[in-house]
Amino acid sequence: MLRGDIMRIRTLFLVLSLSVFTSLFVSAENLTNLNIGLESKLSNEGFIEISGKEFKVEYESGERVFKVEGDIYAVVSNKYYLMVSKVFDSYEDAKEVVDLYKNAKPVYIGNEEWKVYIGEYSSDKEAREDFDLVYEINPDMDHEVLRNNYRRISIMSGDGEEFIIDSRDDNLFFDSNYKFEFLEDKYRGKFGFVRKNDNDLILINRIDINNYLKSVVPSEMPALWEKEALKAQAVAARNYTYLNMSKHIEEGYNLCDTVHCQVYKGVMTEHKNSSEAVMETEGDLLYYGDNLVETYFFARSGGATEDSENVWSKEVDYLRSVEDEFEQDEIWLINPDKEISSIEIKDYYNSGSVASIYINKKEYKKANGRYFLGLRSNKYRIKSFEGKVYANILGMSNNNRPYEDINIFSNDKKLKKVYILGVDENIKEIDYESGTDGLIIEGIGYGHGVGMSQMGANEYAKRNYTYKQILSHYYTGSIVKGEAIDE
Ligand SMILES: [Zn+2]
Repeated sequence: MLRGDIMRIRTLFLVLSLSVFTSLFVSAENLTNLNIGLESKLSNEGFIEISGKEFKVEYESGERVFKVEGDIYAVVSNKYYLMVSKVFDSYEDAKEVVDLYKNAKPVYIGNEEWKVYIGEYSSDKEAREDFDLVYEINPDMDHEVLRNNYRRISIMSGDGEEFIIDSRDDNLFFDSNYKFEFLEDKYRGKFGFVRKNDNDLILINRIDINNYLKSVVPSEMPALWEKEALKAQAVAARNYTYLNMSKHIEEGYNLCDTVHCQVYKGVMTEHKNSSEAVMETEGDLLYYGDNLVETYFFARSGGATEDSENVWSKEVDYLRSVEDEFEQDEIWLINPDKEISSIEIKDYYNSGSVASIYINKKEYKKANGRYFLGLRSNKYRIKSFEGKVYANILGMSNNNRPYEDINIFSNDKKLKKVYILGVDENIKEIDYESGTDGLIIEGIGYGHGVGMSQMGANEYAKRNYTYKQILSHYYTGSIVKGEAIDE
């Protein structure tokens, strides 16, 4: 849940800069396919292996080019080539010329056009040495030396098919009737490759927006939560997707798969409940007037959400502080890992968040004290400021969730080990971080506090609020428009 927090800590000027583009984009009606750059699996070795079968090679438009069987290998190519000057309209036409030479390959150059490269060579000089040879083989066509560049990718298939992609703006995609596998994760949809520079090679997953959201939503909110809360989260994720379509356009894809955009791990994270939430809200988007809402969210509010200008700089009409009526408070205690000689909170906002705090005689306004102290939220008070040993448990519990709310105190200043009794009834030693300077801060809430509280949304859902009511509550004055039919 911390992910949502990090993900949405973005400067609000984006709201302004994107709004012009966004209204143009959204009017282009149905957004269907997305290109997701799997940056979390970036290959610095310049080599990628994809497992699967019966791959069809397609142009960006979806038109079939040819078929390859077996696994696919992509390798960056930093070599020199001799190029046949003629441009070919199809892979087959290029292939006919390829077959004249001993060491030539078809090359996709974009716009559904192909060329033929001969080589590879390690230098310009080495390439020139073969000029006579290639002229003898094919005297009807001109040949020229091609320098190395930072976009060529060599593709090989398990059945011996080999070609090069050397296109600046246009890509080839691999489709299959089966899911494909990449570094132990399975993905739906199609894939392509793109280079960053040098040896960096990134796999692009071309996927239908519904299938994309089915993977994203359960990464943001536990799939076992209430259906209407999951539906609110699905709409929030869809809004984010529409608003950030151009975030990585210069790199050759729409969004990345990390917290920088939205965490996306393919088929593995999908769950029946969240998939239903995506399909039951299909096409739904949240608007404020004519503009898409920037759907900031966070884990829990501690009773009230926050005005946007109290956290960031810009005042946004629909990001107002609202009450979180049913959220269950959960108190956290933290011993900040900082050298602190004096600390005093000077002012609070109406929501209960800290507006001003002095630490070591320096003033921190808005949430800056929270960030400095490394706190879970901006709703806190100083509990004590004297000598005690405190341990904050690190790591994951058995159900793969962080140990969030276990705090242990010791007065003898000799806390060396921490043991817990697991749900499997085994006692195990776990990692912890401890502090001894005795400053204990007590707080409620988790995250930046702007927009939707996920925990609060789940509590509203338990009380029969619909996802539309939940979204309109947290994003003041906004309404859901789209395809989903009211029940
Ligand atoms: Zn990104």
